[in-house]
Amino acid sequence: MKEEAVVYRNAHDPLRDETRDVWVVRGRIAEGPVPGARAVDLRGAPLRPKFVDPHAHVLPMGLDLVRPSVAGCASREEILDRLRDALNLVARGDWLVAAGYDPNRLSESESLSLDDLDRLSTDVPIVLRHVSGHGSLVNSAVLRIAGIDDQTPDPPGGRIGRRADGRPNGWLLERAQEALRKVAPKEDVETMARAVLRACQKLSEMGIGTVADMMTGYYDLRRELRAYALAARRGCPVRLRLYLQWSAVFGPKARHGWEEDLVDADPSRCRVAGIKVFADGALGARTAAIRGAYLGDPTPPSGWSGVLTYRPARLREMVRRAHEAGWSVAIHAIGDHALDLAMQALRETGEPSRHRIEHAMIADERQIGELARLGCRVCVQPEFLADFAEAYAQSLGPERMARLNPLGSMHRAGVRLCLGSDRPICKGDPEDYVRLATHRPPGFDPEERLDPRTAYAAATKEAAAALGDADLGSLEPGSWADLLADPASGLNPSERGPESRSDAS
Ligand SMILES: [Zn+2]
Repeated sequence: MKEEAVVYRNAHDPLRDETRDVWVVRGRIAEGPVPGARAVDLRGAPLRPKFVDPHAHVLPMGLDLVRPSVAGCASREEILDRLRDALNLVARGDWLVAAGYDPNRLSESESLSLDDLDRLSTDVPIVLRHVSGHGSLVNSAVLRIAGIDDQTPDPPGGRIGRRADGRPNGWLLERAQEALRKVAPKEDVETMARAVLRACQKLSEMGIGTVADMMTGYYDLRRELRAYALAARRGCPVRLRLYLQWSAVFGPKARHGWEEDLVDADPSRCRVAGIKVFADGALGARTAAIRGAYLGDPTPPSGWSGVLTYRPARLREMVRRAHEAGWSVAIHAIGDHALDLAMQALRETGEPSRHRIEHAMIADERQIGELARLGCRVCVQPEFLADFAEAYAQSLGPERMARLNPLGSMHRAGVRLCLGSDRPICKGDPEDYVRLATHRPPGFDPEERLDPRTAYAAATKEAAAALGDADLGSLEPGSWADLLADPASGLNPSERGPESRSDAS
């Protein structure tokens, strides 16, 4: 039988930085005192809300967990060996899709090419996904099936990598990857649900109680929604918040009636939180839209300043439509050029504070002031600095790199910050990304760090608020009692709040 009421006596609340009694009644934090509550004395040990990760890719993370990966491979031979092993397990008619390729870990001469993949197989389609998710290297079987050749123009917001003679070199960057989604075999709902549960089991082990998927509808909106709802019904230990791809809801091929796929889901466990729109790409892949140019290197050509996913007028119109339909919009904008366009789009909604900007990695003082005035939420990923420093140094040089993720300036200006992971691009342990916000890695301006309490709030209460969940991420009365068992607190899992289910298995 579930317990009705518990009081955690002398619990240290890290958000308020005070020690007090915290009452839990039927899974929610309550105003005390509650007669008959069972008492647990924490003797000043912390009682913490579970973390909220407001920017993740849950299904892709889960699929990566069930798919082969070359993450962690230190040499080209090791990568090719892994791919060769994985190829042996590919069923007839299936593709080999491998994740986690990070050419920045290899020397230039070691990087893999189309020819390398073709030496593995010219029959089985092979896709090697860049660790950032912003590019994929494919073999010629994929190019053939996708109909990509030297005559194919770059799609809007994307680039087909080419050799000197114009033939594709196997790299599909940004939206050029959409050609893959159209022709690759799709996962079924059951596989997707299992992937979501696999991912959330890992999240739960990291102390995360709520996660937002930022690209629901990338593969197939209705299948994905059914998979998330199914995972929630099967006792998914993490609350699911979904941001739907703009095109899946408003685009010409949008499929109506998707709301039905979630009707059975308990909205506190699984619901749609908003709409996701891209303004640009990523810095490591040199596709984020920056002012000025990326540092040389033969490809891309010098003077290259990234890719806008949409023309500015189109971006504004997309944001307006989602806004008018009543949604919160989250705009991915990494470069400073993209950031200006994103802010303009939000300003034109007349209600910018309802919306979010994702990443905002390059922002000068004027832009930071503008973010504060707009009052939109800004979701930053501190782990990028630790994971991709080398790529940033190569693409931007030391000075521009040092200023990336100006969290300190943003906080001092009053920007409403939250911290997220962008998993599976990063490992995404909240303890790690909170620490990286308070202790920036070497090469990054230490003035741009956050104080520990602000960083912690940005990973809990503020992250929940960015998802529209005012009743998550804190120990305030009315909040869900998603409580973390802190080893130091003397709490054991059976003493956690009745709503915290991560101890279930
Ligand atoms: Zn993301």
